[in-house]
Amino acid sequence: MGAMIEVEGLNVYFGAHRALHAVRDVSFRVAEGQCYGLVGESGSGKSTILRAISNLGVDWSGRIEINGAALDKNRTLGICRQMQLVFQDPYGSLHPRHTIDRILNEPLHIHGIGDCDRRVREALCNVGLGPEFRYRFAHQLSGGQRQRVAIARAVILEPRLLLLDEPTSALDVSVQAEVLNLLNRLRREHGLTYIIVSHDLAVVAHMCTQLAVMNKGAVVEELTSSQLRSGMVEQHYTRELIKASHGYGRDITRTAVGQPASLRTTA
Ligand code: ADP
Ligand code: MG
Repeated sequence: MGAMIEVEGLNVYFGAHRALHAVRDVSFRVAEGQCYGLVGESGSGKSTILRAISNLGVDWSGRIEINGAALDKNRTLGICRQMQLVFQDPYGSLHPRHTIDRILNEPLHIHGIGDCDRRVREALCNVGLGPEFRYRFAHQLSGGQRQRVAIARAVILEPRLLLLDEPTSALDVSVQAEVLNLLNRLRREHGLTYIIVSHDLAVVAHMCTQLAVMNKGAVVEELTSSQLRSGMVEQHYTRELIKASHGYGRDITRTAVGQPASLRTTA
């Protein structure tokens, strides 16, 4: 299958005179319908890659192709519609005093899309929220429910690509699995392609077939999730990352990365 997104030689800079080189010569491709992971310590440039892809005010160079078409720095609304970002914090990303109805209508209005009533009802249903949520305020919802609304706001535009930045990190462990399963179902049902950023290796191993390990802005190595799970990694940095994610640093060669805590059955 063709690549839904291909990133080649991406560099991102911050500051006057490009003082900080935050992303260094990063390349990867994601086939349509796949989920690709970006892992690495805090500050390694994961979110910055998503911001460059969605053109959120960063200074970048390199090549980003969506479906074979290179993106330039001036995005049409049509291109923007194809890729949607979901952020970590559903408390910060939804206006607390707006109703869910208003939150879901907003992107439709921006993109000049009609048939809003049906789309809003379907979007709620798609993310497992009943119609009774429509006229509630964001501040009345739990973290998990808010993240469902944030996901609904992204998929209501019928994008091809979702960029997920730590989508479950702010949630209670008990609802993390529900949101991950929802994301997996949406990907299957709508043929979506994902790039997911997480510091939780278990989440990435569960969601992705392939992933890049990042350190200080560069890709250290690319792995399949089975290589990650079995600990068949080449780089010392990756081994240390796996060890740290265990907490105890036990034998990483046996089960390098298990299921996310939230997906484990309680013993
Ligand atoms: P990650 O998502 O992997 O934790 P980030 O992509 O947020 O890392 O950050 C990568 C680097 O870029 C860090 O050194 C961070 O401090 C820097 N950075 C991120 N955003 C900005 C910004 N808006 N201005 C200046 N530096 C930034
Ligand atoms: Mg980040």
